[in-house]
Amino acid sequence: MSTTLIEVRSPAGGELLASVPALDAAAVAELVARARAAQPQWAALGFDGRAKVLSRMRRWLLEHAEQVIETIASETGKTYEDAQLLELGYAVSALSFWARRAGGYLGDRRFFARSPLVAGRRLVTRYAPRGVIGVIGPWNYPLLNSFGDAIPALAAGNSVVLKPSELTPLTSLLVAQALRECELPDGVFAVATGAGETAEALIDLVDFVMFTGSTATGRKVAMRAASSLTPFALELGGKDALVVLEGAPLERAANVAVFYGMINAGQSCVSVERVYAQASIYDELLEKIVAKVGALRVGEPSGPASVDVGAITAPRQLEIIEAHVADALAKGARVAVGGHRRAGAGRFFEPTVLVDVDHSMRCMMEETFGPTLPVMKVSGADEAVALVNDSPMGLGAAVFAADLERGEALARRLDVGAVCVNDAAVNYFALEAPMGGHKASGIGVRHGPDGIRKYCTAQTILLSPRLMLRREPQFYPYTKSSAKLVRRLLNTLYRR
Ligand code: NDP
Repeated sequence: MSTTLIEVRSPAGGELLASVPALDAAAVAELVARARAAQPQWAALGFDGRAKVLSRMRRWLLEHAEQVIETIASETGKTYEDAQLLELGYAVSALSFWARRAGGYLGDRRFFARSPLVAGRRLVTRYAPRGVIGVIGPWNYPLLNSFGDAIPALAAGNSVVLKPSELTPLTSLLVAQALRECELPDGVFAVATGAGETAEALIDLVDFVMFTGSTATGRKVAMRAASSLTPFALELGGKDALVVLEGAPLERAANVAVFYGMINAGQSCVSVERVYAQASIYDELLEKIVAKVGALRVGEPSGPASVDVGAITAPRQLEIIEAHVADALAKGARVAVGGHRRAGAGRFFEPTVLVDVDHSMRCMMEETFGPTLPVMKVSGADEAVALVNDSPMGLGAAVFAADLERGEALARRLDVGAVCVNDAAVNYFALEAPMGGHKASGIGVRHGPDGIRKYCTAQTILLSPRLMLRREPQFYPYTKSSAKLVRRLLNTLYRR
């Protein structure tokens, strides 16, 4: 096993939290081999047996909530509330959901096919676990995104080897320890700490890769997986827009823009990254947004209610945020509030509203992933639709309109994976519904039936009952009369 160590530091205070090994290819191979050996026993427990372990884990998380929140907050620098509501809240609801629903989504499906060419045959479709799933996760939500994607994989009967971000491995290590306490069989869940090379070694060895991260790294994952024809799903970056039209409830629109723009210090894949407001309500909406953003407390979190906006987790992210603001200002935008990195220890950026923005600016076209809200004036719904769709990304969007009918009609015109009307981003918690991005925001989905079936192979079994065959069919030799028979059959069945 490699002895190279990665230092994990607090983004809020800068202090050293722990050092973890950066696993090399041989160490990853060892974890995958153990996971592979343990998987059949785990699969053999069946849905009910596995659900018991997942339910124990759900209770464990609730009983150790403070430890979990503290671990997440320490390595990400996020607020207590962001860790509690989004990470812990998601994990316990997902453990409950997949424990109950896996069997329904993956149970055998027996049916008769419609085609007369297979008349009388019975069919069974079954879903079998693939084996070992490699989950590669980002740093912004170390519990929700990394372990969150492992839960349905485990519920389906797979083993999982999880590669967390090198910036935030401690939550995943805590999860591994918790799962052992919850009597998950040895080897079924393992954490491969390390950076990009560790992830690449994992991709080469597993039966499916579930990747969450940036679009740039997602492309690398796809290319790597292609060389071994390993199937994968990618949940990538976003540039989610919020559209506010005349007649919309402006107070709520402003609250939603600010909450989902600033939550997790803006480091959320589904979020509010840009706002389009109809000219007639622009001034009123902007005034509300600026007042609410200006009132936010930013700084080092120290327990509940201490701050509203926490730290910027990744050092490179702070540089991206600054570069987007500088680029916007250079091209004619103005800062309505905020606009600067906070001086002193830790990585913090002031909650910021940018105005006079347009699509020549990086803050409107690239993922900023920070506490910034650029607000742009539009003439109406048509211009808003064109601008929302003028993006290489297509993860999510939000629409505020005069009524739900108009909101839904607008939602249907947006080329994104999910649209919330009079809301934003909360579709992530509707685990029954597929969640995934269009365009450069991803391939495949999490949640819903396909969110667990992707971790399985689908097998069709066709049963031709002997009794329905009056006599043994003779296929060969081909004769003129057999060709005539087929022609007559096809014409009878399909001519009309
Ligand atoms: P990155 O793409 O930088 O990293 C994601 C993971 O990939 C990390 O574990 C990283 O390791 C690893 N990695 C690095 N290099 C490679 C490689 N060559 N092959 C395979 N894996 C590699 O993303 P971030 O961690 O910066 O996360 C932020 C991004 O994630 C944002 O773009 C955000 O939108 C997106 N995201 C998308 C979500 C969605 O559901 N669509 C949800 C959450 C985030 P290491 O960090 O150790 O370098």
